[in-house]
Amino acid sequence: MLVVQKYGGSSVATPERVRAVAARVVRAVRRGDELVVVVSAMGDTTDDLVALAAEVVGDADAAVRHSREMDMLLTAGERISMALLAMAIREAGEGAVSLTGSQAAIITDGAHMSARIKEIRGDRVRAALEQGNVVIVAGFQGVSAAREITTLGRGGSDTTAVALAAALGADRCEVYSDVRGVYTADPRKVPEARIIPQVSFEELLELASAGAQVMHARAVEIAAKYDVDLRLGSAFDTGDDTIGTFVTRKPQRMEELVLTGVAAKSGQAKLVLNGLPAGLRTVTAVLVGLAEAGISVDMISESAGSEGRIELQLTLDDELVQEAGDLVSAMLPGMGGGGIVVRRGLSKIALIGSGMHRRAGVYARAYRSLLEKEIEVYAVSTSGITITVLVEEARQDDAVQALHEAFTLELIGEDPATGAAAGER
Ligand code: ADP
Ligand code: ASP
Ligand code: MG
Repeated sequence: MLVVQKYGGSSVATPERVRAVAARVVRAVRRGDELVVVVSAMGDTTDDLVALAAEVVGDADAAVRHSREMDMLLTAGERISMALLAMAIREAGEGAVSLTGSQAAIITDGAHMSARIKEIRGDRVRAALEQGNVVIVAGFQGVSAAREITTLGRGGSDTTAVALAAALGADRCEVYSDVRGVYTADPRKVPEARIIPQVSFEELLELASAGAQVMHARAVEIAAKYDVDLRLGSAFDTGDDTIGTFVTRKPQRMEELVLTGVAAKSGQAKLVLNGLPAGLRTVTAVLVGLAEAGISVDMISESAGSEGRIELQLTLDDELVQEAGDLVSAMLPGMGGGGIVVRRGLSKIALIGSGMHRRAGVYARAYRSLLEKEIEVYAVSTSGITITVLVEEARQDDAVQALHEAFTLELIGEDPATGAAAGER
């Protein structure tokens, strides 16, 4: 069996942890598996490198002005852990060789700090495997056609692992972190969160895109596209049965699923344009103006104001709101007037689950649970299998907790109190 394993930053945070991961890898090799291991940088190394760059250039915009050099800097983190892990495996008596993303021929586009994988040429990895090595590949990095070193965006090591599994035709891809798998909410913030034994690609993609950090969203897209057998487990559990979540096309559930989970993403903002002249022309002009500036808008809603004027509400990333506000302000006089209000410091909370829209009263229950905790909702939207609400960042954790509690009976996963899976209760 060819297995790709991925270990995140916390799994290799200290020399002891590196040795513990080496021991796990060696165990798998001695069971007869061929292993490719993708590692992240140790502990908070990537954050520390980002902070270091900010210190050197004098502000937090280092990444914006120096994206090429940021990639050179950040890829160093994974280089450290890959080399140390290879040494630890060799010390334990098995062959191992580490490769950077570039050496492993992970070819990306040229978008520094958010590159996308275009192709992986597996020959070098395969040759190293054939020579009896465990092949350690640095996560979250690649090389462009112009031979520039690139990174895939924060959390991108998951994507490296799944893409390698797809390119090599691996039998499975195991992603290990500091939690046992995918939970119905971040288990660090919601102690009642339940582990989800089987999750569909679609559900996991929604959870990951909505901010559930446990998996990089692009990794899920690749896994779905290439049918990668993907599993999530804890690197800290000892013993062999450490996988908590299987990602499958069609989860086996005794009951029609109602809800999969709740996820949150901070750093959101809202732009309210009021007193705009009514008509499609105005709204179109605003959206085209923003699009031409490369500003992507998340939720849009329009409502009637007084005297035949309208109010347009847009939500977007907090990082973009200043630029968007300036741009639209400059457009207002030419469009026939209007005012602008910017609200920053918001979080997006997503309630995810297929089947939800067919049930009556989901909105009512969601709103009531937020109202009971006096959490104000600044915007709401629905799409596919998700309901999203925007709340103040300071109330993010309360909102997740409130929604998780309100829908606790519908949430899948094992009940921590009884050990019963949903559908058996
Ligand atoms: P790694 O460094 O191994 O890539 P991450 O920190 O990126 O690990 O992801 C694991 C973390 O994701 C967990 O510690 C947990 O706090 C967080 N998390 C957020 N939402 C979820 C969820 N729904 N299920 C599991 N973990 C989650
Ligand atoms: N080390 C990188 C990060 O912290 C990549 C990863 O962990 O997946 O974002
Ligand atoms: Mg991660």
